[in-house]
Amino acid sequence: MNPDHRASRRRFLASAGGLAAAAAAAPALAQPAAAASRAGGLPFLIGSAADTLLPRGKARRVVICGGGWGGVTAAKYLRQYAPGLEVVLLERNPVFFSCPMSNKWLVDLVDAQFLTHDYLAVSEKHGYRFIQTEILEIERDRKQVITAAGRLHYDYLIVSPGIRYNYEAWFGNDRRMAEAARARFPAAYMPSAEHFHLKRALHDFRGGHLVMTLPPPPQRCPPSPYERACLIAAMFKARKIPGRITILDHKDGVRPIGPGFRAAFDELYRDVITYVPNARIEEVDPFRKHIRTEAGDFDFDHAILMAPHQAGDLAWKAGLVPASGSGRPTGWADVDPLFMHDRADRDVYVIGDAVGFVSPQFAYYPKAGHLANRQARIVARYIAEREAGREPDWALPDNLCYMMVNSQPMEGISVQFDYRVNAEGVLEQRQMDFNERGPATVPEDFNWARLSYEDMFS
Ligand SMILES: Cc1cc2nc3c(=O)[nH]c(=O)nc-3n(C[C@H](O)[C@H](O)[C@H](O)COP(=O)(O)OP(=O)(O)OC[C@H]3O[C@@H](n4cnc5c(N)ncnc54)[C@H](O)[C@@H]3O)c2cc1C
Repeated sequence: MNPDHRASRRRFLASAGGLAAAAAAAPALAQPAAAASRAGGLPFLIGSAADTLLPRGKARRVVICGGGWGGVTAAKYLRQYAPGLEVVLLERNPVFFSCPMSNKWLVDLVDAQFLTHDYLAVSEKHGYRFIQTEILEIERDRKQVITAAGRLHYDYLIVSPGIRYNYEAWFGNDRRMAEAARARFPAAYMPSAEHFHLKRALHDFRGGHLVMTLPPPPQRCPPSPYERACLIAAMFKARKIPGRITILDHKDGVRPIGPGFRAAFDELYRDVITYVPNARIEEVDPFRKHIRTEAGDFDFDHAILMAPHQAGDLAWKAGLVPASGSGRPTGWADVDPLFMHDRADRDVYVIGDAVGFVSPQFAYYPKAGHLANRQARIVARYIAEREAGREPDWALPDNLCYMMVNSQPMEGISVQFDYRVNAEGVLEQRQMDFNERGPATVPEDFNWARLSYEDMFS
């Protein structure tokens, strides 16, 4: 129906008092809300949550929720390992923005182009469907995902939503405080507008006291706040900004690569960085710019307020976050540690930072992009094997993280992890810290990032 016809039909119904008559006569009123809104004149492609986003096709479908490091890798490898499957990647952001390397971008060591990648080109190349939309709900009993643009059925679901900030731990149900903390002093720990806010704040900073609160473990990329502090301190020094940085750490010491970071704080930034261990947060006031901790009280001119981390909202909405023994939510998705699926539902996999407790030896996998990428490949293989009618053998990820601690000259440190299953069937982790600061790590770091982006986007 063209718009003129639609308009004249609406005029007819109104002018002829035809609404009541139409209501009585039309079975359309018994139709779902989406169909009713169509009758009201919405163009076909303006979807609503009640619409069918994608009709079921002949192929079985994998829906991937979240197009970050885990999700975007899973989409590509699923198409390679199981070309008969239809793969749909749902993501709210229009472009991929990488948190790894973003500390370097904050202080102008790399440009935004290095971190930003195009979902449409890679989805076209590998033959999966990328849909930019907000995921609203996951109805596991009906095997469907509800998005702002419509709902769609899945045969397999991969949930890779990253993290959320648990502001409730600081502010309870006080939305005003939580919103003020997020909007004024964002953590910039998720791919979002926060990074741009923080970068502007740092570049406008003319001196004074910058405070960073570090989240308690488990947290996204534990070494990266220390890297951020070092690089900001280096920028202050290079630009002669009279700034002091205080790191309020929940932990009793710097971990991982503790000696490497401590050496950088002491040898390079003694006059800029103050490291405070055991600074468990008691109160944060973003209006008064004041923080009370177990290690003392702190006023600030600007802050990077990192509230505790938990699994991203979608893991909660999908019912993947159980209660602990005390009855409180664990905060993280409970999965089979080897096969990465929900313990009760083999068709629902979780990858990346949202994954919960996996081992009595090391508790949680490091919440790292490298590890999310490896888990994504492994889960893609599991699904492909199952589609081929075979039971998959388990596989384990590895992890690797480079951290730059100095920009003039550029120097870094690094940490590696590998995994095995011991004779009792328990997952074990081996951690290797490389604490000696040096220039050789820097090209390795950039090479790692380049290869990772290539792996996900070419
Ligand atoms: C400053 C910093 C430095 C880091 N450095 C490193 C490093 O050097 N090496 C390393 O390995 N890791 C690093 N990390 C960690 C890395 O970024 C994460 O571990 C990784 O992004 C986890 O991948 P993920 O897929 O679980 O989550 P993400 O990459 O965050 O992806 C989740 C995606 O889900 C989307 N999403 C969530 N909810 C919805 C919804 N309702 N609707 C639609 N879309 C939704 C989000 O928009 C996001 O794109 C760093 C992190 C930070 C913050």
